Amino acid sequence: AEARAAIARHTRLVADFPSPGVQFKDLTPVLAESGGFASIITALAHGCPEVDLVGGIDARGFLLGGAVARELGVGVLAVRKKGKLPPPVHTVTYDLEYGSAALEIPAEGLDLTGRRVLLVDDVLATGGTAVAAATLMREAGAHVVRVSVIMELTALAGRATITRGIGSDVEVHA
Ligand code: IMP
Repeated sequence: AEARAAIARHTRLVADFPSPGVQFKDLTPVLAESGGFASIITALAHGCPEVDLVGGIDARGFLLGGAVARELGVGVLAVRKKGKLPPPVHTVTYDLEYGSAALEIPAEGLDLTGRRVLLVDDVLATGGTAVAAATLMREAGAHVVRVSVIMELTALAGRATITRGIGSDVEVHA
């Protein structure tokens, strides 16, 4: 209830960003509220199945993922936009409305084989980002068991895209 109130009160709605006709939900002000941040972290972690890693998606997912990992007592991995990590990396490219984007995780220095992963991000829109992040985890031998977000834009049917792209056993928690 506290998280919902903070989201309702402090989300900034931005018209025509990042492109005409799109209304961007900016959760930055919500995260800057002490009560907002704390209650959101509790809500994101709530009821989480057994996991041994949290993947935080670039960039607000880093803030959320680190705190959720601490809450669950597991480690955290930054799922980064292309070009930030030293080689070797796993890369997954995915389509955006205009053009494409890519996410990366390290391919050396940590063993993700058999790890059970919770992916965390601020907003679920089309689901393309979450599917790309889950595909990366699979390439590295890990398995996404849940995707937790603060806000789901239901009109964009990201939940269905995740079910199609990751599998029907993944839980989508918004
Ligand atoms: P998707 O790949 O279309 O599901 O988009 C999700 C990604 O884009 C997430 O990393 C979000 O942070 C970002 N995103 C998409 N729409 C919004 C929005 O309205 N507000 C904030 N982030 C958004």
